[in-house]
Amino acid sequence: MDEKKLAAQQLCQRIQRLLGADASVYCWEPMSRHTTFGIGGPADCFVEVKTEQALRRLWMDCCRKGHEPLIIGAGSNLLVRDGGIRGVVVKLTGVFSAVEVVGERVLAGAAAALKEVASTACMAGLTGLEFAIGIPGSIGGAVYMNAGAYGGQMADVVDRVRVLTEDGDYCEWSQKDLGFDYRRSSLQDGSHVIVRVAFGLHSGDAEQIKATMEDYTLRRAAKQPLDLPSAGSVFKRPPGHYVGAMVEAAGLKGVRVGGAQVSEKHAGFIVNRGGASAKDVLELIELVQTEIRKKYAVDLETELKVVGED
Ligand SMILES: Cc1cc2nc3c(=O)[nH]c(=O)nc-3n(C[C@H](O)[C@H](O)[C@H](O)COP(=O)(O)OP(=O)(O)OC[C@H]3O[C@@H](n4cnc5c(N)ncnc54)[C@H](O)[C@@H]3O)c2cc1C
Repeated sequence: MDEKKLAAQQLCQRIQRLLGADASVYCWEPMSRHTTFGIGGPADCFVEVKTEQALRRLWMDCCRKGHEPLIIGAGSNLLVRDGGIRGVVVKLTGVFSAVEVVGERVLAGAAAALKEVASTACMAGLTGLEFAIGIPGSIGGAVYMNAGAYGGQMADVVDRVRVLTEDGDYCEWSQKDLGFDYRRSSLQDGSHVIVRVAFGLHSGDAEQIKATMEDYTLRRAAKQPLDLPSAGSVFKRPPGHYVGAMVEAAGLKGVRVGGAQVSEKHAGFIVNRGGASAKDVLELIELVQTEIRKKYAVDLETELKVVGED
């Protein structure tokens, strides 16, 4: 066994001893299994954490050793490089998946699927989360990214967030502490784990809420390449422009690098046509950025998060 894998195995054994039954630990886990792109090299130590106590213990242990873990949600906004991730990757599960309706509030663990939370709100006759129905992320990832669609965004509905801070304390942040902006929250500036979110919604007509969600679902299916693996929109929207239209007008629709392709259906997406590597995707991103800079003098900033080593 090579040195890297041996070190990974020792790390995994230590973490499993530390957390016991409160976690499942996977050694040299392919990240392609945990991203909607279906791309990504192995993580040394992939840990599914089931309780708040175990999360704190793991977090403190990693930080003491100078290796902050990477927290992932549904992996729907992630590109993991082909060499994978050294150290610990954490995915929340267990208690972090709970969803509860209390009056006009929905309380959801960070691991709950955004779609499930939106559906729960709909069934309870609560309006506000209709925009979220087709976004394939977790609650944690959606708040971190301030995910949004069809004129709505997480910033409009998040009331309070429970976070594990870099010092290992659990605390409650209010909406104004979260510094929401376009596809941004202040959580991106530090090392915090989102563990639970309280949404402030309003009573509405369940039939109307359902109809709006169905409309958004149809519009999404008509425009987006949902049949192919992707990470959604690759680039943030530059002020005054639409990325898809710019990329299409630059003649880049359908352009390929290896297994990665600018979607033929929506030029703001890059899709994995089979066997794409992270290197293919990164080269294609660079090609698009270069052409758009030449044609429009616009710098496209990536929305997806790129992690790991080459
Ligand atoms: C087909 C498709 C359509 C999409 N449509 C939209 C859309 O309409 N609007 C939109 O905004 N996005 C869209 N996306 C992108 C993506 O779904 C969102 O960005 C989503 O919010 C990411 O959530 P996630 O759980 O998958 O996060 P991940 O991709 O797992 O992680 C994203 C970032 O969040 C961090 N993170 C995740 N969980 C936590 C946590 N608990 N605590 C701290 N940090 C955390 C990660 O470290 C990472 O930096 C789409 C993606 C796809 C594949």
